[in-house]
Amino acid sequence: MRKVAVGAAVVCAAAVCAAAAVVVRQRMKSSRKWARAMAIVKELDDKCGTPLGKLRQVADAMTVEMHAGLASEGGSKLKMIISYVDNLPTGDEKGLFYALDLGGTNFRVLRVKLGGREKRVVKQEFEEVSTPPELMTGTSAQLFDYIAEALAKFVATESEDLHPEPNKQRELGFTFSFPVKQTSIASGTLIRWTKGFNIEDAVGKDVVQELTKAMHRKGLDMCVTALVNDTVGTLAGGRYYHPDVIASVILGTGTNAAYVERTSAIPKWHGPLPKSGEMVINMEWGNFRSSHLPLTEYDIALDEESLNPGEQIYEKMISGMYLGEIVRRVLCKMAEEASFFGDTVPPKLKTRFVLRTPDMSAMHHDTSPDLKVVATKLKDVLGITNTSLKMRKVIVEICDIVASRAACLAAAGILGILKKLGRDTLKQGEKQKSVIALDGGLYEHYAKFRDCLEFTLKELVGDEVAETIMMEHSMDGSGIGAALLAASHSPYLQEEDEEFY
Ligand code: ADP
Ligand code: MG
Repeated sequence: MRKVAVGAAVVCAAAVCAAAAVVVRQRMKSSRKWARAMAIVKELDDKCGTPLGKLRQVADAMTVEMHAGLASEGGSKLKMIISYVDNLPTGDEKGLFYALDLGGTNFRVLRVKLGGREKRVVKQEFEEVSTPPELMTGTSAQLFDYIAEALAKFVATESEDLHPEPNKQRELGFTFSFPVKQTSIASGTLIRWTKGFNIEDAVGKDVVQELTKAMHRKGLDMCVTALVNDTVGTLAGGRYYHPDVIASVILGTGTNAAYVERTSAIPKWHGPLPKSGEMVINMEWGNFRSSHLPLTEYDIALDEESLNPGEQIYEKMISGMYLGEIVRRVLCKMAEEASFFGDTVPPKLKTRFVLRTPDMSAMHHDTSPDLKVVATKLKDVLGITNTSLKMRKVIVEICDIVASRAACLAAAGILGILKKLGRDTLKQGEKQKSVIALDGGLYEHYAKFRDCLEFTLKELVGDEVAETIMMEHSMDGSGIGAALLAASHSPYLQEEDEEFY
């Protein structure tokens, strides 16, 4: 009996020991996995590092590329397109003007009544119309007829106080945010479609002529006086309120910048330009790349698997279309190599672009003590449940690394523009203001991104210069900016009837 009891006790003890050993092994295994996961985050952090010295190198490279892109066609990754916008709005514009903003699945029609320096925008009305998907891949005539018809309907709703002056054609500014080879302020040929549009017979055609023909077909008597993209429109919208606006930056689905260049600094091969004066240059800066950019394995894989490999490298590190996707790729590696989310990789996590930047932003801004928003997003977007608070903190850190790098690189790009214009230093006794007009969903809604961008630019230029630099959110600049440019390039400008208002 005693022997049996002893034997049982020994067996029990052995079982306890074995169980303890399993627990210890599991703990060791899980602490090894955690260490591996942390090593992945640490490596990401190191590779994404943006110390000021590096950002200055990026800024210098941007300035060099700006010079190169202006100096010769194809001389740089930066196209540096002459926009033919040489009359930015001053605030004196008067009259009724229309704008049409086509850049995605929705287009907007807008009319403004400008009342001159004192009254500014007296009245503004707009309507948003969605483009039926089948028209995005139909014929040029179908798309432009649809737009012209929507415009005609909108014009028909002009109220009593919004009629144009007698004997004047209605004038329209056209924001067309697709790659265009501009040939004058009011003409340009479509190079190629992007963003899901693919209308073959429109490529190579003058988009203003296409729109004008459609307007005639729909019995609409209107003249297109300015063709611009969203970046140039934003610059014009910013300049209308701030005479010191010298550049604009779009941070939305994609990213781009435009700035005001002295015509005397533009080489002759661009064609005849006035010797003295200003010209807006559309940089197409999303295509910038430099060996100084802190690229990671995630960026390289994202680029290789993209629709446009090797192109838009800067944009792929900065803009709203990609930031969430970079985070997803990091999480995927942690799941695969460190079983961060358990023994199997959550299937949804493998889906490209499933984690959108607004979701990333929501996680990044989660201030609840138990990171509730992070837990909800992981569950709803990636199908990941049962995360610990410690894990959720790591995910917030990854969002921070990716968003901060993006914001710092955007700040470096802006410094590049300031350097090109000689506004990164103070001339003796001068306190010339430089205002940058910014717009786009990423800048507008991702507060930590915006704060980091503004803080970093200040750090880069130093306190004294920082006092002369302002960042202004130019809301909806692309729509109203086009109407303002229609006004400032109006053929009727000389004959303006001062007494009309
Ligand atoms: P677009 O660039 O297509 O003209 P927007 O300027 O409105 O349009 O920008 C939309 C983009 O902004 C989205 O694709 C998204 O990446 C980003 N965005 C929108 N909302 C948020 C948000 N809350 N947080 C972070 N990014 C956002
Ligand atoms: Mg836009």
